[in-house]
Amino acid sequence: MKRSKKKEENNTPLSSAKLSKWDRQYVWHPFTQMQEWEQEDPLIIEKGEGIYLYDIHGNKYLDGSSSIWVNLHGHRHRTLDTAIQNQLGNIAHSTLLGAASPPSIVLAKELVKIAPRGLTRVFYSDDGSTAVEVALKMAIQYWQQQRPPQKKKKTFVRLDVAYHGDTVGSMSVGGISLFHERFQPLLFPAIALDAPYCYRCPLHLRFPSCRTACLDPLEDLLSTRHGQIAGVVIEPMVQAVAGIITQPPGYLSRVRALCTKYDVLLIADEVATGFGRTGTMFACDHERVTPDLLCVAKGLTGGYLPLAATLTTENIYKAFLGEPGKTFFHGHSYTGNALGCAAALANLEIFKKEKTLVQVRKRSGMLQTLLKPLAELPIVGDIRQCGMMAGIELVKNRETREAFPLSERMGYRVAAECRRHGLLIRPIGNIVVLVPPLAATERQLRKMVNIVTKSCRILC
Ligand SMILES: *Cc1c(COP(=O)(O)O)cnc(C)c1O
Repeated sequence: MKRSKKKEENNTPLSSAKLSKWDRQYVWHPFTQMQEWEQEDPLIIEKGEGIYLYDIHGNKYLDGSSSIWVNLHGHRHRTLDTAIQNQLGNIAHSTLLGAASPPSIVLAKELVKIAPRGLTRVFYSDDGSTAVEVALKMAIQYWQQQRPPQKKKKTFVRLDVAYHGDTVGSMSVGGISLFHERFQPLLFPAIALDAPYCYRCPLHLRFPSCRTACLDPLEDLLSTRHGQIAGVVIEPMVQAVAGIITQPPGYLSRVRALCTKYDVLLIADEVATGFGRTGTMFACDHERVTPDLLCVAKGLTGGYLPLAATLTTENIYKAFLGEPGKTFFHGHSYTGNALGCAAALANLEIFKKEKTLVQVRKRSGMLQTLLKPLAELPIVGDIRQCGMMAGIELVKNRETREAFPLSERMGYRVAAECRRHGLLIRPIGNIVVLVPPLAATERQLRKMVNIVTKSCRILC
């Protein structure tokens, strides 16, 4: 943690003390036990540059979580900064209800160009949760507007430990009990299937000899109950919040095939995996899958502004055409925000200019090599990675795979150690999660992994 002199000159200790006091006095942080937070000196990030973050004291940190999985090309990227400034010269926001705007038009066209083939329509919203809400509502209304109407098709299938956001609809198709259970009275029922958590396979099988047997129940379910099922909701390739649970090859394409066979919509939540995160533009591209509905958010603006989109097919779009009652009655105040769309366009421009996907593939190979030695540590049970997302599962006993009790807060302790060495990451339970910006160079990746290794060793 290097201190920059300049910072100390124009930032008096008093002002940082005040900020820290006011934060604890006025701000309620997300996913944070505020009683603990109030007792600590809060980390206050004031600046970013490339893949580094700087706090108000001038301490420098590697942004090992991409500011919670949103940042792609680094902070203060000139192309993004300029695009937003230029858009500000025209207008910050105007509504898409009854009017259009140049950046939202051009962005929709560009998104259709890069999306899995067959996705031709773009519906904007503000964040990952709303992108999922939109997909769920579109699916339900789509079935109602079939000729004849299929009003019984109203149930969703989801995976265990799924995470699709924190709003009521997206929680209903989620399965993280710590987050979701207490809200049960608000949630609609969805049918849960085992997650393909190969390290702790619910069927005690091994890939590939298992032949993705965990999907057999999906086939059984769809073959008998497809008349009641509106869609299957899935995070393709990686269930991120679940602890970077990576899906075995062929899993996603089998889900797609089953949905097609039984006339059930496939909703792909690519909020975390979209925009190069897994090494392809979309995770669905790994298996050449086109979902019926595709949800994107986090990386859409390169990590700059809250903007989301739900993409869908011409078939679904057409079901909403006709009399006024067939309208999709959904929209938010900031839907299609011009600054957000301008940032998203700049994001896509950088993908082209900097050949980001080529870089990511190289760098994820490096990351894989760098992570390998960690497998030797006595507390590391499993290392899972897909592109620039990695999860290191800490275990009490490598032989039995016995987990650390959550009360030991192993992930949290590793993360705290990493922070002392200048790396910010956010763990999930016993999983140390490393999600570097796509722009992280080999040197920077090496630094991150060295810090993670050192921090894990301390706790061995
Ligand atoms: C983060 C995330 C969401 C929720 O997105 P928000 O922008 O936080 O509402 C939904 N789905 C997945 C897979 C995510 O990772």
